[in-house]
Amino acid sequence: MAAERLQKVIAAAGIASRRAAERLIAEGRVKIDGQVVRRPGVKADPQVSEIRVDGQRLRPRQRPRRYVILNKPIGCLTTRSDPKRRPTVMDLVPAGFRSLVPVGRLDGNSSGLILLTDDGELAYRVTHPRFRLPKVYLATVRGLPEEKVLDRACRGIRVDGQHLRLDRAEVLTRFPHRSEAKRRSRLMVTLRGGRNREIRRVLSVLGHPVLELHRTRIGSLVDTGLAPGRWRRLAPAEVERLREAIRLATGRKKATAAIRDGGPVVPATTTEPGARGRGTASGVTPAFVVAVDGPAGSGKSSVARGLAERFGLPWFNTGASVRAVALAGMRAGVNLDDGPEVRGLAYRVVLDPAGGVYLDGEEVSRAVRAPEVSRGASRVAVHPELREVLVGQWRRAGSGGGVMEGRDIGTVVFPDAPVKIFLDARPEVRAARRSVDEGDRDVGAVAAEMRRRDRTDSGRAAAPLRRAADAHHLDTSDWTLEETIHRAAALVAAAPGAPPPKGSREISR
Ligand code: C5P
Repeated sequence: MAAERLQKVIAAAGIASRRAAERLIAEGRVKIDGQVVRRPGVKADPQVSEIRVDGQRLRPRQRPRRYVILNKPIGCLTTRSDPKRRPTVMDLVPAGFRSLVPVGRLDGNSSGLILLTDDGELAYRVTHPRFRLPKVYLATVRGLPEEKVLDRACRGIRVDGQHLRLDRAEVLTRFPHRSEAKRRSRLMVTLRGGRNREIRRVLSVLGHPVLELHRTRIGSLVDTGLAPGRWRRLAPAEVERLREAIRLATGRKKATAAIRDGGPVVPATTTEPGARGRGTASGVTPAFVVAVDGPAGSGKSSVARGLAERFGLPWFNTGASVRAVALAGMRAGVNLDDGPEVRGLAYRVVLDPAGGVYLDGEEVSRAVRAPEVSRGASRVAVHPELREVLVGQWRRAGSGGGVMEGRDIGTVVFPDAPVKIFLDARPEVRAARRSVDEGDRDVGAVAAEMRRRDRTDSGRAAAPLRRAADAHHLDTSDWTLEETIHRAAALVAAAPGAPPPKGSREISR
């Protein structure tokens, strides 16, 4: 290891996060070759110098880093040890993991996902507002907050001398009641910064105190199947995706995405992705929307996700909301051919900024992928009255910028998007891809279904699937996913107002 900033060296050794390391240094608890060092910027190399923290010698790391995700129950503290001996997240993991550090803080009264790791650099970036990693929460609040109140929460308010704001706040469900005191609402809130108790403080000042708060997502990390108090190791692919989102070198692209000391410049997301009404409302920078359209199996989701990660933009999968409407109808026994009936279902669906979808507050991102829901989605998608509601929701979701994936984004939803990409592939290639997605289902059956769906999507009167005249047409039949993302990223990078991509050397090659 070459000489690095001291706080980075300490973090890399897995002793503390970078921020905590800065505190250790300021408190005079760190020595280099016997001398107390209080300046965090000082560079040191643990191979050359003797670095001690609280007297303990720092040894360059030998073993691979470890990553654990845990569903923190209420009442458990996010700390490594509590002087009052209250239960902490460390009590929930086996002894072998007790040297890991919890990433960020989830207060005692809140529940949900928390990451534990000995990868100090990753921990630093996941929590630092500069890297803008979205964290998504479900909040139950008192009362029925009006749209303008949520807009205010997203514009920001001053509390105790601090400017606090939410990046996005959407009502998932309202629970009206005759008695005002018993009215409740369930919100989905996205934060990219995260000051101490920010959600609770903002909503409380606006008259809607938070009664329950649960974190459901940290960047790309989700786990709806993890019971409270349970943990699991992250799969290598999950770590990889997280590293990409916070612009850390990944196993695949170490050479090109290597990051110099101090980290990269954060993409100029001047439009504050994910914020409601921002960008256009500010009148300064129009929202930067990337429209990704195309038929089933053309690679839309993988490409949209790849672009979102590369440019630090939110990713909205509009197909998932059509699917969630179909799922809602199927569960309730609604006739999917009845437009006015189906329209009402749209209000129960909310897209999250990481490609997921919620129905009545339940994450259904996986459930909507079932083949019978695909069929239902094509049926409901033909109703103009449903599309009217959905298009409004999609415009609002993308009003702060983002990668929007669908069928009619470039033609109807965002006809002025600065980049439009229409993905396509030969029918047999698309069918083969879908069959793999659907657990190796019979390709012939998948192909037949796909033809039917293509016909409905292209032949319908309301917003049919077609390429916008100004869209870039990419036939992905003979490309790997990496190649497709690479080419699409080059188109995005060349558009006016595009945020700078990470690994830009690679893209311009
Ligand atoms: O993209 P995905 O296959 O998930 O979309 C499911 C269905 O939703 C499509 O077959 C299409 O009928 C409909 N859809 C739509 N408009 C969009 C996105 C999807 O009509 N913007």
